[in-house]
Amino acid sequence: MSSAPLQLSKTSSEYRIPRERMIERLRGHYGIRDTRVLDAMRAVPRHRFVPEALQGRAYGDHALPIAANQTISQPFIVACMTELLELDDRSRVLEIGAGSGYQTAVLAQLAAQVYAIERIGDLAREAQARIRQLGIYNATVKCFDGTLGWSAHSPYDAILVAAGGPEVPEPLLAQLKIDGRLVIPVGDTREAQRLVRVIRTDKGYTREDHGACAFVPLIGHYGWKSKAEG
Ligand code: SAH
Repeated sequence: MSSAPLQLSKTSSEYRIPRERMIERLRGHYGIRDTRVLDAMRAVPRHRFVPEALQGRAYGDHALPIAANQTISQPFIVACMTELLELDDRSRVLEIGAGSGYQTAVLAQLAAQVYAIERIGDLAREAQARIRQLGIYNATVKCFDGTLGWSAHSPYDAILVAAGGPEVPEPLLAQLKIDGRLVIPVGDTREAQRLVRVIRTDKGYTREDHGACAFVPLIGHYGWKSKAEG
C-alpha cells in the first residue's frame, strides 16, 4: 500500500487531530475500506480549502459553503466517490466541478494526472492556486463547461462529476476508456439525486446505483440550463 506523498507533509501537522478523527469516522462509521483513499485524505489539508472563518469546522461530518454559493462536499461523499473510481498511479482522471479544489487534491494523490474543470472563473483560479501552493503538480484546473468533457486529454480511466445533472452527459460517456469508471449524481431535483456509477465495457455501459446524495446543480449544455431548473 502506498503512503501519503511527501509533498504535503509540511502542512499535515496543522489540524492533525481533527483530521485523524475524520479518517477514523470514515473508516469506522462509514465503512470506507480502501486504505489508499484514507491515506490520501489524511495527506490533504482540508482546512486550506474552506473560507478562513470556517477552518475550525473543516474536518466535521458535513459539506461547507465556499465562494459563489457553492459547497465543498462532505468528507464521506469525497471518500465514497474516490473509492468508486478505483484509481491507481497510472490513472488519468477527469473531474467536473472542481469548486474549492479539495477533491482535485485528493484525486491527485492517487492518480497519475487529474484534469479538472470548474465553470466559475474565480473558483477555478483559486483552486488552481491552492493546489500549486500545496506542491501538487499533477493536477490542472481550467474554466469551461465540463458537461462537454475535455476531449484533448481523453480517453480517461475515471471521470468524477461533483454536481448533479438530469442525466449522464453523453460526451463524458464517449470520453471514458473501456473498463473506465464514471461517478455522477443524477436526479430530477436535488432531493431525488442518486449517486450513479457507469462502467464502460467492450459491449456498452453498465450502470449501478450507490444511494441517495444531494449536490449543487450541474449547469451546462448537457446539464441544467440555468440555476432555476436545478
Ligand atoms: N468537489 C468540490 C465540490 C464543488 S461543488 C469541492 O471539493 O470543493 C460543485 C461545483 O461544480 C461548483 O463549484 C459548480 O460551480 C461546479 N459546476 C457546476 N456545473 C458545472 C459545469 N457544467 N462544469 C464545470 N463545473 C460545474
